[in-house]
Amino acid sequence: MNRKQQQKNNPKEGEDNNLSPSLLKAEKLRKCIACGEFFDRKKMIRLLKNHTNNQIVINPDNKTFGRSAYLCKNEDCLKTAIKKSRFQKALRGKVDENTIEKLKIMIN
Ligand SMILES: [Zn+2]
Repeated sequence: MNRKQQQKNNPKEGEDNNLSPSLLKAEKLRKCIACGEFFDRKKMIRLLKNHTNNQIVINPDNKTFGRSAYLCKNEDCLKTAIKKSRFQKALRGKVDENTIEKLKIMIN
């Protein structure tokens, strides 16, 4: 009886149901690579290294996959991240000048 019900379920719905409320809350928080504080990911800048071409993408869409890093929208955090090479460490790759410039514009 139970088995029949499970098969009926959409797998995606089943996935959502498996998430406990505490896990959902944690899902929203991301650690800043510069200051190490946790913030709501919606308030942060996300950087992602696209695994197919190794390009760094700022605030990628959900179809892009790779290693990602989060940064507060805070000038000091950007400076720290640049100075201490936090992008390179978090993304395991170089962040080019263009990307840095875009980040500066986004933060200012
Ligand atoms: Zn920060």
